[in-house]
Amino acid sequence: MFTAFLIKYAEIGIKGRNRYLFEDALIHQMKFALKKCEGRFLISKTQGRIFVEAEGEFDYDEAVGRLQHVFGISGICPMIYVEDEGFEKLCDTVVKYMDDVYPDKNKTFKVNCRRAKKSYPKDSMEVNADLGEALLKAYPGLRVDVHQPEILLNVEIREKIYIYSEIIPGPGGMPVGTGGKAMLLLSGGIDSPVAGYMIAKRGVKIDAVYFHAPPYTSERARQKVVDLARLVSRYTGPIYLHVINFTDIQLYIYEKCPHEELTIIMRRYMMRIAEHIARETECLGLITGESIGQVASQTMSSLIATNEVCELPVYRPLIGFDKEEIVAVAKKIDTFETSIQPFEDCCTIFVAKHPVTKPNVNIIRRHEHNLDEKIEALVKTALEKDELIIVE
Ligand code: ATP
Ligand code: MG
Repeated sequence: MFTAFLIKYAEIGIKGRNRYLFEDALIHQMKFALKKCEGRFLISKTQGRIFVEAEGEFDYDEAVGRLQHVFGISGICPMIYVEDEGFEKLCDTVVKYMDDVYPDKNKTFKVNCRRAKKSYPKDSMEVNADLGEALLKAYPGLRVDVHQPEILLNVEIREKIYIYSEIIPGPGGMPVGTGGKAMLLLSGGIDSPVAGYMIAKRGVKIDAVYFHAPPYTSERARQKVVDLARLVSRYTGPIYLHVINFTDIQLYIYEKCPHEELTIIMRRYMMRIAEHIARETECLGLITGESIGQVASQTMSSLIATNEVCELPVYRPLIGFDKEEIVAVAKKIDTFETSIQPFEDCCTIFVAKHPVTKPNVNIIRRHEHNLDEKIEALVKTALEKDELIIVE
C-alpha cells in the first residue's frame, strides 16, 4: 500500500549553514542506491524533509533494503500521501490507514500533526483532537496515550498531506563523500571490511588496496577480497580496488631479514605502498582493521613500527574492539560468511613460529637495510603492475 517514504536524517540536521551540502550528498547517494532497483523514483527535498516517491510499480522490500544501506539515513518512514480534499475526506483516509497498517486495534496511539501549510483551516492541535476522535469512534479497541503511544500517527499537512507511523531504522552516519576519501588495506579477513564500513559510515569514500602473493595465495583468496569489497560497496558505493602483486617483495624480505621480523617488515612495506597509492588518488588517510593485541603484529610496540613508515593518518576504527564485537558488526553488514571462507591470505603463509611481539624500531630499520639493493626496484615494479578493479 505504501508508495512513498519520508527519510529521516539525524546528524546532518545540525550542520548549520553547510546543511544543504549534506542533504544534497544524501540525495545523490539515495539516487545511486535506488537506480539499481526496479521502478522509478522521485526524490525531493522540502523544508528539511526528504521524500522518495515511487512512480508506478516498484519492489517495496528491495527499495527499503537499498535505502537501509545509505549512510546519513536514520529512519525510513513508509507513508501515504493524498491531496487535500477537505477534512472529512482526511478523516476517512486516516481511519482506513489505521485499518490497513494495524489489523489488531488493541493499541494505544497519538496523532501528531505538523502543519506546514499555514492556510489549512484547522491548526495542528485541532487536527490532532479531531482525527483522534474519529479514530476512537471507528475502532473502540484504540486508546489514546500522549506520552508513550504504541502508534504515533504522523500527519503532515503541506501541499499534499502525508501520513506515516512506522519508522524502519536506517544505517545512521553521514552521507558518503562528505568526509573526503581514504585508502582501506583490505585483506580477506574479518576485520578490514568492518574497518572500511565504519570509516565510510562517517561520510568517507573508500578506495582499497589488496596485497596478493601468488602462488602462495590462491586466485580464490583474491576473489574473496573482491567479493568482500562488493559487499562493503553496498554501503560505500563503487570501490576502486588496487591489487598489488606482493610476491617478489615478500620473498625478498624472507631471504634477507630475520624470520621473526618478517611480518612486521612486510607490514611496513604494505603501509608504504598503500600510502603511495593513497597520495596519488587523493586519499586523506589509510584504514586498517588492526586491534590492540589481537596478534603479534598488533601489539602497541608493533603498531609503532608499522605506523612510523607513513605520514598520512592511519585510521584504525577497531583498535579497542574485541574480536566478538568485530564479528557482531561483520554479521550485521553481511561480510562474516565470506570472511571466514578458508583461503590463505599472504600473512598466514609466511608467519614465523615466534614472531616478535616487541619489535625495536631501530633494529627493524637496520634489518631493512639488508634490502637496499633491490627493494626500491621491486616496489616500483609492484606499483607499475597495480591492477585496478572497480567493484560495485
Ligand atoms: P583481517 O581480519 O582484516 O585480515 P587480521 O586479523 O588478519 O585482519 P593482520 O593480518 O595482522 O590482521 O592485518 C592487519 C591489517 O592489515 C588488516 O586488518 C588489513 O587492514 C591489513 N592487511 C593485512 N593483510 C593484508 C593484505 N594482504 N592486503 C591488504 N591489507 C592487508
Ligand atoms: Mg588478515
